[in-house]
Amino acid sequence: MAAHDPVEQKYVYDFAEGNKDLKDLLGGKGANLAEMTNLGLPVPPGFTITTEACKAYLTTGREPDGLAGQIEAHLESLEREMGRRLGDPDDPLLVSVRSGAKFSMPGMMETVLNVGLNDRSVIGLSAQAGQNDRFAWDSYRRLIQMFGKTVCEVPGEEFEHALDEIKRAKGTHDDLDLDADDLRGLVDAYKKIFAKHTGREFPQEPREQLDLAIRAVFDSWNAERAILYRRQERIPADLGTAVNVVAMVFGNLGPDSGTGVAFTRDPGSGAQGIYGDYLANAQGEDVVAGIRNTVPLQELEQLDKTSYDQLLDIMARLEEHYKDLCDIEFTIERGKLWMLQTRVGKRTAAAAFVIAGQLVDEGLIDLDEALHRVNGAQLAQLMFPRFQLDHEFEAVAKGIGASPGAASGKVVFTSARAVELAAEGEPVILVRRETNPDDLNGMIAAKGILTSRGGKTSHAAVVARGMGKTCVSGADELDVNVPAKKFTVGDHVVNEGDVVSIDGTTGKVYLGEVPVMPSEVVQYFEGELDPENTDDALVRSVHRIMTHADAARRLRVRTNADTGADAARARRFGAEGIGLCRTEHMFLGDRRELVERLILASGERERENALAALLPLQRADFIEIFREMDGLPVTVRLIDPPLHEFLPPLEQLAVNVAVAQERGEDVAKEEALLAAVRRMHEENPMLGLRGVRLGLVIPGLFAMQVRAIAEAAVAVVRDGGKACPEIMVPLVGAVQELETVRAEAERIIAEVVGDSGVEVLIGTMIEVPRAALTAGQIAEAAEFFSFGTNDLTQMGWGFSRDDVEGAFFWRYLELGIFGISPFESIDTDGVGRLVRIAAEEGRAARPGLKLGVCGEHGGDPDSVHFFHEVGLDYVSCSPFRVPVARLEAGRASITTTGSDSR
Ligand code: PEP
Ligand code: MG
Repeated sequence: MAAHDPVEQKYVYDFAEGNKDLKDLLGGKGANLAEMTNLGLPVPPGFTITTEACKAYLTTGREPDGLAGQIEAHLESLEREMGRRLGDPDDPLLVSVRSGAKFSMPGMMETVLNVGLNDRSVIGLSAQAGQNDRFAWDSYRRLIQMFGKTVCEVPGEEFEHALDEIKRAKGTHDDLDLDADDLRGLVDAYKKIFAKHTGREFPQEPREQLDLAIRAVFDSWNAERAILYRRQERIPADLGTAVNVVAMVFGNLGPDSGTGVAFTRDPGSGAQGIYGDYLANAQGEDVVAGIRNTVPLQELEQLDKTSYDQLLDIMARLEEHYKDLCDIEFTIERGKLWMLQTRVGKRTAAAAFVIAGQLVDEGLIDLDEALHRVNGAQLAQLMFPRFQLDHEFEAVAKGIGASPGAASGKVVFTSARAVELAAEGEPVILVRRETNPDDLNGMIAAKGILTSRGGKTSHAAVVARGMGKTCVSGADELDVNVPAKKFTVGDHVVNEGDVVSIDGTTGKVYLGEVPVMPSEVVQYFEGELDPENTDDALVRSVHRIMTHADAARRLRVRTNADTGADAARARRFGAEGIGLCRTEHMFLGDRRELVERLILASGERERENALAALLPLQRADFIEIFREMDGLPVTVRLIDPPLHEFLPPLEQLAVNVAVAQERGEDVAKEEALLAAVRRMHEENPMLGLRGVRLGLVIPGLFAMQVRAIAEAAVAVVRDGGKACPEIMVPLVGAVQELETVRAEAERIIAEVVGDSGVEVLIGTMIEVPRAALTAGQIAEAAEFFSFGTNDLTQMGWGFSRDDVEGAFFWRYLELGIFGISPFESIDTDGVGRLVRIAAEEGRAARPGLKLGVCGEHGGDPDSVHFFHEVGLDYVSCSPFRVPVARLEAGRASITTTGSDSR
């Protein structure tokens, strides 16, 4: 037989042949069933058809050579083990056919139970079950229903409808009231439905049922909902699913049978205990379908103490074995417990931290492994304010948590109305079926965005995340009627102006205003909660894991801050310096007038006066920041954006001047301003006169800033403080630019610092691709590089950073051109390659060259791992992301053999 051919690929594994590490091949369910089998736990016998078989089938449209023979061989051995043959009329073996991919995709793919039943074996099954006709006919009707729906695409409602009819005729709502005759009648009705839709009789041949069911599970990998789910969860599309063929055990054989699900700890909070639900006299799909109400698992102790004790024992064993929270599915058949599934269970962000801490306490894992088990995305989630939910608030809908946070506000349906109400100071929630680029203003004005369509990569989701705005997308229970300015959900009608609350983490939608409470994790970082002295298990665990991450990490973490307040907060959050102090904000507010004078200066003297007036103000800014950072390095970047950004917009100014002229007013000053704005107008300001180019064109501008920095440092040191300034030149593309600025800066610094002991480093941003490619030359004139990955991404891809995310990234994400915006997570292949080249060539030219990154990517978990791997010295990010960067830098430093829980 083909199965014995030594070169034939092995497509089928008995449970005894696999283990938990074979998820790629056997899927999560199959690998864990094998693991439990090998632990000696009571798992019904069975075998797994590999993901390789599925992939071969999906590529060629037919089962790979040898598969049929291998299934035959494994089926025979299953039959031998069970002492029954598949579909034997007198004593049938029945099997379930279950999907199981590497990553859990709950409810997305197919399952068929009771395969092997037909018009004859249903009689044998009844005899097997002690002349339980009702059970046998119920099992048969379930097979026809599931098989019809899953394998032959018969509309499920037709079966539901037939079932309802019989119940109505009998005057009951409860399936359990139907007797054997009713169910036999239902089987007839189901068979007719099957024949009507498929043009054939329900297959009586058990092996044909099995083969068709296996094929249907393979096909379900490419069902629309599965594809959507994978896209949302970023699960690769080419993994395929395994298929598990398992001997049936029955939870619906009477009151001493039942089925349930359980967690070894609370997946919501991480608290220890027994969490689960049990349903007597039922099969698994009854629990899922919610036909009858389950009871808390604890009640099983009264119903069947032996099984309950055995279950607790098994749960403890599983936790000890997997060293993690496990979730399980089980069935009790006439007092005998069977394990149908286990896996390392999904959990909330809070539970992930709490459980990791507990497992360390219990000696099951070490701190490295605990650090590995949590991640920056979870920590970031815990840093958002949350709704304070009590029993009063029940969600009316659940969509996709597309951008985290908690927001309440008045419902509006158009962008224009959002802008109007927000201008009146009202918090608003913009509700749309889906958003498009025309909604941008409304999205900016709103506190939160709610859509009834679209997933995690829809326009609404991508743009909201980019703005850091709460968003729930794809809440498909909402019927949004924009012209009528209302939406309906269930029995509720919500009109414009009504208040709703949305939770961008859980995706839940509430009517009315839900109070918001601050994050205890932020309170801890702020120093308001003492981790040694709190009974908050989450805070204790976060503290412990953060402490370990800090000890483990090689990367330093700095912050992007340009005010004393931001610098102070970032220090409380653990920043070890400032990696980017953008000086441009220091030219706004009441200093605009000085900047205007600088720009409009008609001669050298006027310009010098304006700069002289700016100098003390800048000095005071830097003194405040150096004091806050108290000796930690502070990278001050010389002014970057084009100067016309500090002037009024061209159109507005032109209109004002025209109107004033019309009225005959004296507009000499405005006209001069308008002329200057016209002179400086650029078609592509991002590629125009900014950064170092500005410093080289406007005499004295950079010199004033350098002087202010040096004087501020000297002032702080003279006062007994410490200051470590690093002057950073933006937008350098050629070493000559840097050399020119450097020569002048060195002269000023030498003059100012004298013998004060102040040391000032001079370095550059690497944010123009040419700078990255000529890093060896540039390093000759730089004591440090800081990668400006925002501009490097903009110029590397040619994507305008101000426009593209809202304009068309949603489409690129939909098409899979990239899985995540390259402005959010570093494009390691392209932009990352530029970083790698510059780091290597820079260090080759100047050993010990200090390397950091200060673009947005500095606080992005995946990017932090990349920067660690490339060998940077530090990452710098906004104050709020500093803890996330610390945690991820720690995670990047440890090596562990454990597996991520996804
Ligand atoms: C960058 O380009 O990555 C950067 C940090 O500078 P900015 O965002 O100010 O242009
Ligand atoms: Mg930049």
